[in-house]
Amino acid sequence: MPLKKSLEELVPSYVAGIRPYVPGKPVEEVERELGVTAIKLASNENPLGPSPKAVEAATRSLTQSHRYPDAGGYYLREKLAARHNVSMDHLVLGAGSTELIQLLCHIYVGPGVRGLGSEGSFVMFPLAVHVAGGEPVLVPLRDYTFDLDSMAARIDDSTRIIYLANPNNPTGTMFTAEAFERFLDKVPEDVLVVLDEAYCDYVESPDYGDSLEHVLAGRYLIILRTFSKIYGLAGLRVGYGIGHPEIISALNKIRSPFNVAGISQVAARAALEDAEHVQRSRESNRRGLAFLTRELADLGLKVVPSATNFVYVETGHPPKQVYKALLHEGVIVRPLGWMGMPDGLRVSVGTKEENRRVVEALAGFLHVARPTERKVNLGG
Ligand code: PLP
Repeated sequence: MPLKKSLEELVPSYVAGIRPYVPGKPVEEVERELGVTAIKLASNENPLGPSPKAVEAATRSLTQSHRYPDAGGYYLREKLAARHNVSMDHLVLGAGSTELIQLLCHIYVGPGVRGLGSEGSFVMFPLAVHVAGGEPVLVPLRDYTFDLDSMAARIDDSTRIIYLANPNNPTGTMFTAEAFERFLDKVPEDVLVVLDEAYCDYVESPDYGDSLEHVLAGRYLIILRTFSKIYGLAGLRVGYGIGHPEIISALNKIRSPFNVAGISQVAARAALEDAEHVQRSRESNRRGLAFLTRELADLGLKVVPSATNFVYVETGHPPKQVYKALLHEGVIVRPLGWMGMPDGLRVSVGTKEENRRVVEALAGFLHVARPTERKVNLGG
């Protein structure tokens, strides 16, 4: 039966007006529709898969599925506390770090409140600010990187929360520990800073530093981490926040008690123990990232140097067109128009074979799209 009232009448206007997160197509669907064997390089997942130790532990824990999970995530938080050298009351678990972004916005944002972030960054933040009835203020990137000075200049009395992703998704760039410290100096002490470090495990630069020191110094700051990237557990949805105990306590008031499944907690604990898997993943990514960066640049594409497990690329062609052409070759990448980057395409680092395939598919596309030109200089 059709509803008598429209969505706009039934839910607040700030919810009705939201442009939802656009999920990528499942691999199986692409394969079925196009009759190809597909590879997915669209969601910055670990191409080596999960830690075998995590799989083993998770499999064993399935027999306990009739039990509710440990609502406090005691053993996982205990392990994380030891790992990061913080007390357990500095730690909270989330169903992925995305859940923590949403919960933080629920707490700190409301009508009349501004959430400060950046254009060309993780869309879950502005989305969560909208959902909470606030107004996202997004400052343009400078050279594909967070423009921390311009962001600091936009802080006003209505700013309660600031979101930074370091490294950034989808550009793969990072800012230094020194730049972050300079930024923090300009942020009023009662404005919450959310520092999303989903990709920190891939960073090689010595200038990245350790942001935990600011939490330990008592800053009003929360650092977000995830098991979805280097630990290869994206499907199990485990993330965590390390922050000022008052922020953690506020999050614990509103999160659902069983937000992280028991199997996910067990797998995350085992993944933390599997240093060999992390090392292998890091090395594989280092080689793959170097390969993609070099080969895509050799095709004449603009490739932004990345500190992560993906690269941001501009081809000079509409990204949707490139995406569709690659899809027909069974290669799924991410066009970024919906993320506010109309020229960009994001390619996750895959296995050696997958990386080769995406380069070949792009070379093939460029050959057809510009048969007479061997190389196009996109500048920058
Ligand atoms: N933060 C950033 C910057 C990301 O790019 C992603 C995933 O792509 C996430 C958080 C999501 O992490 P999770 O799977 O823990 O929700």
